[in-house]
Amino acid sequence: MIAYIEPYFLDNDADAASAATAAGKSTDAVSESLDIEGEILCGGATADIAGKDFGGMNCVKPLAVVRPVGPEDIAGAVKAALRSDQLTVAARGNGHSINGQAMAEGGLVIDMRSTAENHFEVGFLSGGGTAFVDVSGGALWENVLKRCVSEYGLAPRSWTDYLGLTVGGTLSNAGVSGQAFRYGPQTENVTELDVVTGNGDFVTCSEMENSELFFSVLGGLGQFGIITRARVLLQPAPHMVRWIRVVYAEFDEFTRDAEWLVSQKDESSFDYVEGFVFVNGDDPANGWPTVPLHPDHDFDPTRLPQSSGSVLYCLELALHYRDSDSNSTVDKRVDRLIGRLSFNEGLRFEVDLPYVDFLLRVKRSEEIAKVNGTWETPHPWLNLFVSKRDIGDFDRTVFKELVKNGVGGPMLVYPLLRSRWDDRTSVVLPEGEIFYIVALLRFVPPCAKASSVEKMVVQNQEIVQWCVKNGIDFKLYLPHYKSREKWIRHFGNRWSRFVDRKAMFDPMAILSPGQKIFNRAP
Ligand code: FAD
Repeated sequence: MIAYIEPYFLDNDADAASAATAAGKSTDAVSESLDIEGEILCGGATADIAGKDFGGMNCVKPLAVVRPVGPEDIAGAVKAALRSDQLTVAARGNGHSINGQAMAEGGLVIDMRSTAENHFEVGFLSGGGTAFVDVSGGALWENVLKRCVSEYGLAPRSWTDYLGLTVGGTLSNAGVSGQAFRYGPQTENVTELDVVTGNGDFVTCSEMENSELFFSVLGGLGQFGIITRARVLLQPAPHMVRWIRVVYAEFDEFTRDAEWLVSQKDESSFDYVEGFVFVNGDDPANGWPTVPLHPDHDFDPTRLPQSSGSVLYCLELALHYRDSDSNSTVDKRVDRLIGRLSFNEGLRFEVDLPYVDFLLRVKRSEEIAKVNGTWETPHPWLNLFVSKRDIGDFDRTVFKELVKNGVGGPMLVYPLLRSRWDDRTSVVLPEGEIFYIVALLRFVPPCAKASSVEKMVVQNQEIVQWCVKNGIDFKLYLPHYKSREKWIRHFGNRWSRFVDRKAMFDPMAILSPGQKIFNRAP
């Protein structure tokens, strides 16, 4: 049935009136052939829901958007695609990808948000007493946080900076923030998954049960299965956070301190370590004003050494504490750690805030960006992992030259430890124990011309090409390649494992076509 209606949809977008009629008929036809309980949307509405993403640079038309009630509906959609000649299926979390990764041109997009409320059960791992929460793959992390803290006083251990992302979406990549140096990425903090594979099977998997599927799906770019439930490890939620920023003029001092902090034992460091590069100037979007944490704080550039260059570096730290901890106890713990660091005196900023507000800090930036229009404009972002060996070269060429005037948004750079990442997942990393995440989070003003977005995309390509040409040990994070040759280079010696996993769990290459790694098998 799907095979019969597929061409009908793809050819039928001529004029609005006939499209509307077609949409009505087609919805009925698709509903019949899919035989699922949830909602099915066809026609114009699908482009609004699933035809674009946060990146804003891709636009494709799916055949239909499916809002599943549960895993049976998802399996039903996958099986319908298996019976067809060319249909594909993409799980869509919150559509916060940059390069169309959650899209399916002419295929079925599964809007996972409709399943957000399907799971929320807190329990304890047998033996250890470690708490966990079972949540839906379509749940937003911000809602997981709020419920865990308010109902149980517990919280997941590893986060992303921004929490308007789904559990399934970040687990398909890695999920990285300032806690990852201690707990590893989010993919290291789940112990069990329910997954609908590309064979249409519904499988529970963990390190002990169906482990090949478990590790394939984690960081698997949606290629092996659709996560419908994840068991996420929890810790007691701290009440408060001391949030601190300190400024460096020299990159090697910044990296030395950051690497020292992430290499300390658990109780001997901050609970969160990140960093960013900013422009040495008063530009409100890229320079000094981006550093202070409170309107009363003032960035005093006279505190900078004469030798300061075009860009400066900021280490961002946080220490968790409880309501019952006195101010002097917190001060002492902070001073003990910060006394070891060699940032520029006088350029230290700090505030105390509730833990939940700290984790939701990017929400405020989202609100501002929505008001000034930059949340809706394209986001040609570039995310990389660069090995410690090459981060100095990267600084000299990329930060100090190519993006020395800023990118209109944050330029993150902070170290992570490879030993916190399980090699069995599908994520690929540079060599060496310490590597840096680099994120050029470009924001484009609404008045900008299309050509300026193109220039940013070209600059991203230049940075990647420079890395390749100069033998920089790097991997793209949230990767995006268009040719098989580049995907093979990306995965390196993990490519054959990735291909074998695909053959096992999605042999017809139905899942996540927007990643452009495999072509749908006829
Ligand atoms: P989508 O974009 O909808 O999907 C991403 C991929 O996962 C697609 O291939 C899709 O098919 C697949 N997928 C989605 N749901 C499932 C599922 N249930 N099962 C299997 N596959 C699925 N990342 C970080 O690591 N750290 C950060 O701090 C961070 N901050 C960000 C801030 C912003 C403002 C934005 C826009 C992105 C940020 N990201 C960050 C990147 C983010 O983690 C990824 O883009 C993530 O994929 C987005 O989640 P999503 O739910 O929107 O997924």
